This record gives sequence, C-alpha cells and structure tokens, in this order.
Amino acid sequence: RLAQIGVTGLAVMGSNIARNFARHGHTVALHNRSIAKTDALIEAHGGEGDFIRTETMEEFVGALERPRRVLIMVKAGDPTDAVIEELANLMEPGDIIIDGGNSLYTDTIRREAAMAARNLNFVGAGISGGEEGALNGPSIMPGGPAESYESLGPLLESISAHVDGVPCCTHIGPDGSGHFVKMVHNGIEYADMQLIGEAYDLMRNVLGMEVAEIADVFREWNTGTLDSYLIEITAEVLSQVDAETGKPLVDVIVDAAGQKGTGRWTVKSALDLGIPTTGIAEAVFARALSSSTSQRESARGLVAGTTGAQAPADKAAFVEDIRKALYASKVVAYSQGFDQIAAGSAEYGWSVDPGKLATIWRGGCIIRAKFLDRIREAYAENPELPALLLAPYFRDAVEDSVESWRRVIVTATAMGVPVPAFASSLSYYDALRAERLPAALTQGLRDYFGAHTYLRVDKPGSFHTLWSGDRSEVEA
Ligand code: NDP
Repeated sequence: RLAQIGVTGLAVMGSNIARNFARHGHTVALHNRSIAKTDALIEAHGGEGDFIRTETMEEFVGALERPRRVLIMVKAGDPTDAVIEELANLMEPGDIIIDGGNSLYTDTIRREAAMAARNLNFVGAGISGGEEGALNGPSIMPGGPAESYESLGPLLESISAHVDGVPCCTHIGPDGSGHFVKMVHNGIEYADMQLIGEAYDLMRNVLGMEVAEIADVFREWNTGTLDSYLIEITAEVLSQVDAETGKPLVDVIVDAAGQKGTGRWTVKSALDLGIPTTGIAEAVFARALSSSTSQRESARGLVAGTTGAQAPADKAAFVEDIRKALYASKVVAYSQGFDQIAAGSAEYGWSVDPGKLATIWRGGCIIRAKFLDRIREAYAENPELPALLLAPYFRDAVEDSVESWRRVIVTATAMGVPVPAFASSLSYYDALRAERLPAALTQGLRDYFGAHTYLRVDKPGSFHTLWSGDRSEVEA
C-alpha cells in the first residue's frame, strides 16, 4: 500500500497533523530526523488510523503514491531548507512539497522558484490553530501553484476546521501568499491580544475590579458581537487560581510578554509596503516595552500627574464603554490587516481574495470569531471595498462606539493607565476621516529644508518656495 500524504517533522504540530490525516481515513507515511519521535507517535496513537513508519528519507519518499505529497513540519529557517533539499533530491517532476511551518513569506517565494526550476511543486502553507487545531481541525492557508491545489486541496480541506459545512482551507494564491496571510493573521492575533489586555487593565486599574469579576465580564462579552476564541480563553485564564498561592494565576505570571517573530515580520512588511498597520505595530511595541525590564524597574515611581482624576462613578456604564472601545479598535486592527494583505497581494501579483480569507479564518485559527462572518459578508457585498472600516456594517458599529471609545481613552489618560492600541486606533480613525491633515505642514517643512517641493490644492504641477531668497513660489 502507498500513502496519500507523508509528514516529516513529528514534534507537536507534525504528529498532531499526521494523526488528523489518519483519523480522516488517509494513509500517512511518517518520518522524523530522529526515529524516537516516529516510534513514540506509533506507540501512542498507531491505532487511530493507517500509518506507514519509515526511517530514512528514501524509504519515506518511496512510501508515497504519485504525485507525492510531503508535508514538512520542522523548525522554520535553515532546518526547513535542509529538509527541502533532501526531499527534492529524491522526488520527481509533479511531486508536491508542502512547508507547513511558520516560514517567512520571502523564504517561501525563494523556495518556490527554486523548486519550480526543478519541476517540483512547492506549497508554502500557513497553518493556524496551535496544537489543538492541528489535531482537531486547523485553518490552512496554502499558497503555491494552482495546479498543486487540485491534488492537495481535498486532502487539506478534509482535515481543516469546518464552519457551516465550509472548510477553513482554500488556495490563497501563488508562491509566498499563504505564508504572507498567515503572518498577517498572527499580527492581527497580536493586536487582538493587546486590545484584550488593555480592556482587562482598564477594568482592573481604572474601575478597581477583582480578577474573577473581570473574567465574568469577558464570559458575558463572549455571548455578543465579540464572541471569539480569544475572548473565550481570556475568561478561562482570568478564572484560573494559582494552586500554590491561592491568588489569581494572572497575578503570579511575570508581566513581560514574549514573541517569536511573526508580529515583528508583519510590522516590517507593513513599513516596506507603506501601510499604516498601527494596531499591530502598537501591539508588538507593547510586548517589547513590557519586556524592557530594567528600564521599567528604573522608571517605576515616576510621577503620574493624575491628582484628582476620578474613576467613573457608573461602573456598568464604563464597562460597556470599554466593550465598545474594544470592538471599534478591533475593527481598525482588522481593517489595517486586510489593507496590508491587499497591498502585499498587489505588490507580488497574488490576487488574494479577502472574502475567501475571512471565510477560512472563521474556524480553526486563533483569531476565529463571529466577527469574521461580518468581514466575509462585507466583501461579499462589495468585493472592491476600499477599507473594511468603510463597509456599512463596520462603519455603523464604529460610529455607534465612537463616544464610548473617546470616553475610555480620556479616562485612561487622566488616570495614567496606558492604552496604546485603543488610543492609536482612535487616532487612526480620526486621521482617516479628517478633512485636512497636518501633512500639508510637513510638506512645507520638507520644501523649506530640502526643496522637496509640494503640490497645491488649486492647480496642477509641483512647486517650490524660494525660502532663502525672496520667498516667491516657482514651478518645480
Ligand atoms: P519545532 O518548531 O519545535 O521543530 C521540531 C521538529 O523539527 C522536530 O521534528 C525536529 O526533529 C525537526 N528538526 C529540527 N531541526 C531539523 C533539521 N536540521 N533537520 C531535520 N529536522 C529538524 O516543532 P513544532 O511542532 O512546534 O512546529 C513545527 C513547525 O510548525 C514550525 O515551523 C512552527 O513554527 C510551526 N507552527 C507551530 C505552531 C505551534 O503552535 N507550535 C503553530 C503553527 C505553526 P528532531 O525530533 O530530530 O529534533
């Protein structure tokens, strides 16, 4: 017998995906650099389906039906390159190599071109959902040649999460598009988590609420428009009591957030593309600030200048304000993320369909939420939407929230509670809707010191003022 799919790299993600394939009736060839992991998987879960144990790469490739399909789930970076090379040397034209790791999309573009030159199909597939998703249904974002999806798509769709019977897996576009959208997905995840953190901090440090009470608020929010995986697990984390101290677990966890890089990649790409992805950037910087341990140590006790600032008297009303501020800021973060995807898609010629993307993010992935259905509908109504924020549903939601949003930021600022993502999202909204921006002054300054010229509102052409001469204007 031959396997429909092979999985190499059987750490937590790879073994769970291999089990997921097997549970869906596919024969799965297994390979790992060190045999111990392969054997451990077969020992613990061999009864879940039809696995073919292999030791060498030659044996592994030989166990696969044609066109061969191999999913690589090893550490991103050099290990992935090494495994691709090993596989490519054993494979034949038309075979498909899938990289399911968190690879940087530019690496995927490079690898796809190298494999195409050897007549091999290379598919960079973003996979979201963590360990649990890998086993029970992740959201899968495969890029690569469209032809490869014909043979690969049904396999991947069978193991993905499903929402309303629709698989959370679709062909995203050529070469690095799958990993690019997965990267932005992770960036949005950073923004979502930062916004949740700020909402929590406001309840804690403006309203003085107990952690358990805040957990209940998140539980309640999860029944409405904010219904999402991250809000749901926020209630879980806040409800956890530390066995050793009896305190809420959140109070014994060190307040320095780590990061593995995909948020940072998203912001670097946003800078290169010139897209103001401010929500994600604030979230990445907030993690960096939280981890600036020695600076924070030295700055502790700096004056806040908040004498006389009062917490709002009506607690329930302010909690509702926070909910609305969270929702509006979330709309901004997603709107910016989808802008970045549109810009990346245009830059690389990927033709990514934002509606299809919203559809496959409704389940399986970390940012799964009811909200994604609204995004899908917004693009279904108007595929040419200039920005998500401007879709009627979201525009109304934000307009309905804007008073609350301002109250929250004013109060937080007066009381010295940091709300970088809430505040910058509101500034983004205000800038986007502004009649005039101070960019006109920026242009004047640039012309003054660097003769960079400016455009006029009342006539075509570019102009320069003779600042160091008689200050008359000349056409540039
Ligand atoms: P790790 O990233 O910890 O990688 C461990 C695996 O890589 C092992 O199978 C290991 O083999 C193999 N490996 C490392 N170096 C080499 C090498 N030079 N040659 C061959 N194999 C090598 O495993 P995870 O399961 O956490 O993640 C796998 C991929 O999935 C990563 O790219 C990760 O970024 C991505 N991912 C992870 C998620 C998660 O929640 N953890 C979510 C989504 C994606 P050996 O056993 O021999 O050491």
